[in-house]
Amino acid sequence: MFCIKKVKHVFFAQNLRKTLFFAKNCCFDLDSDPKTQQKPIGNELRVVNTFSKQKQTVLINGESVNVGNQTANSERLVKIYVCGPTVYDYSHLGHALTYIRFDLFVRALRSVCGLQIITAMNITDIDDKIIAKATHENKSARSVADFYYSAFLDDMSALNVTPANVYLRVTNHICDIVKYINRLQNLGFAYHSPETNDINFESSQFPFYLTTERTEKSLGKRSPADFALWKASKPNEPFWIYTNPKIGSEMFINGRPGWHVECSVLANGIFGSNIDFHYGGRDLKFPHHYNESLCCHAYHKLKDENVCGWAKYWLHSGQLRYANEKMSKSLGNIITIKQFLKNYHFHILRIICIRNHYREDLNFDETLLQEATSIDSKFKHFFSFLNREIDQLCSSEFASFSDDSSHTTEPILNVVRETQLEIERGIADDIDLNRGLEAVLKLMKLFQALPRHTFLDLIIVGNFIKQWTSVFGFKYDVASDLNFENPKNSIIIERFLKFREEVRQLSAKNLMNMKKTSQIDPDCLKKILSACDEIRRDMKEYGIVIQDTKSVKS
Ligand SMILES: [Zn+2]
Repeated sequence: MFCIKKVKHVFFAQNLRKTLFFAKNCCFDLDSDPKTQQKPIGNELRVVNTFSKQKQTVLINGESVNVGNQTANSERLVKIYVCGPTVYDYSHLGHALTYIRFDLFVRALRSVCGLQIITAMNITDIDDKIIAKATHENKSARSVADFYYSAFLDDMSALNVTPANVYLRVTNHICDIVKYINRLQNLGFAYHSPETNDINFESSQFPFYLTTERTEKSLGKRSPADFALWKASKPNEPFWIYTNPKIGSEMFINGRPGWHVECSVLANGIFGSNIDFHYGGRDLKFPHHYNESLCCHAYHKLKDENVCGWAKYWLHSGQLRYANEKMSKSLGNIITIKQFLKNYHFHILRIICIRNHYREDLNFDETLLQEATSIDSKFKHFFSFLNREIDQLCSSEFASFSDDSSHTTEPILNVVRETQLEIERGIADDIDLNRGLEAVLKLMKLFQALPRHTFLDLIIVGNFIKQWTSVFGFKYDVASDLNFENPKNSIIIERFLKFREEVRQLSAKNLMNMKKTSQIDPDCLKKILSACDEIRRDMKEYGIVIQDTKSVKS
């Protein structure tokens, strides 16, 4: 019998881009229907910019991004900043949704659009809440922040969220923040408040700035829209010293940075005076992102009246609600990521995030979980089916050989091609990943319902679905669950099956003998012991050592 298992492993070892390229180009090459014969030109990427409230064509280096043409985009650098957590407690499902949605967005831009993405995230590691927690636990603010920063990274890893290229801890950049505020103060965009000893942002410099959201003026501020750039510390709080050489020696303020300016400094420090995308949860839109933008606008003396124009595209993800209320610590309805993952696989959250558009709010309930669990089962079932079909083909002789080498492959390639296009259309339309998911589910259903599957059909469709799940961060462990990619496991399993059969036959022969003579057949016994020695020798060759001890075999 001709063994095609090695061929199977070679196919499945291909990386994503090659596979999509392979699937797409094969499809187009083989598609003979002139109605559907078209160049794989893909679609122009468009996103809803939260501040302009419009769906805009994304321009990188002045040109639009063609979602279906990875080669054209591969040289284009995209700068993305995302607001990170304040590390004073374990992250909850609200955080999980924000960062999984961000991860899906970045994965789509990297893997499907082919853009060169650089991501940076701040970590707010000094803040009122961190200080309160440290006081409560009789620890230093630094140790509290270290602990929860580490826990945050563990949670993100457990959710298979791709790490940012750069994590920027605020306390590592205090000098940068002081210099930044110095410049704002020297340009007339910041002032010292004698009442509070804070340095505040002077919002009156921006008459077009949205001021209606804040009407009450707090102590030490000249306008309700002003905000603290540097907050004077209270007794026993950790502090750094703010000085401004141009103002003079009297300007020494023990304190810490305000939250909004932190992100301005860190994003500017990494990316310079502009970025392509700014991402964050919608609850950060006002005042955080407005104020962060105002600082950048002032610092770079940008003339544009659109103070949010410092970032080309602002993307805000919807919020998570629980029993129709925002999930928040103050309401006591928090589910931490750790608690969730004790009961559910991280796939469930990823499916929820793909199924529901990133701008939508989500009400976390049983229906949402059940639907995602059902989709997760469909993928598991599909890979199980695929493995079974391929194993059956691998372990049986070919029924017949045909001169027609293309046989049933072409229709399948057409469906794969259409699925790929639907994935791209969805991404192009403000990162609508559910369109791709629906198309993939449809392809799986259609394929499994076919009466017969050729080896090539199985490889093409299997590879395509596997790559799609991999791109969007799923880990369907086909290799360990289904013995799909590890030829060594196949050999070991086959060897054990042979051993079992040998022992079974010898035992049956011995039983027959005992019926006749009431004696154990010494020849059978010898052969069983010999088979046991043999399998121990064989296993040693595969790196598995079977040792006999007095009571246990291991
Ligand atoms: Zn921020």
